Amino acid sequence: MTLALSYACPACGKPVEATLEPGTVSGSCPACGASVPLPVSGTLDACAVCGCRDLYVQKDFNRPLGLLLAAVGLVTGPFTHWISTVAMIGLDAVLYAVVRSVAICYACNAQVRGFEPGKGPGPFDIAIHDLYKFGKRFPPRRERAVAGPLARRLQDEGRAP
Ligand SMILES: [Zn+2]
Ligand SMILES: [Zn+2]
Repeated sequence: MTLALSYACPACGKPVEATLEPGTVSGSCPACGASVPLPVSGTLDACAVCGCRDLYVQKDFNRPLGLLLAAVGLVTGPFTHWISTVAMIGLDAVLYAVVRSVAICYACNAQVRGFEPGKGPGPFDIAIHDLYKFGKRFPPRRERAVAGPLARRLQDEGRAP
């Protein structure tokens, strides 16, 4: 099973794509070249980037696209006896049902794709999110969690992590 990982480069913040498979030892940033060790063992139990054990799952679905489909359906409805409205909303529902899930790290927002349906972590929990946001819990490799809620709080306070 090959998992696809995307995360924010701890050095420059640019997005990095990597695959997690046997033999993967690190990811390197295409923008600045910074290398991040990626322990393969930490795929879905823990974040490969920051080591955080708190992950949540959500549908890997493009919400703006869904809303656009619904809007197209509504606008064209009066000219198609509302058939287009029903069709577009139906298409939106079908897309939502078939899309894969993505696992996301609470601490650093790293995303993992490509796992079996139902194998991922639990749904988003705002209480866990707030533990990181308000600095009550930290991932083991905190210095790498540059794109998560903790990093945003530190940026707001004017000090980078
Ligand atoms: Zn970089
Ligand atoms: Zn993480």
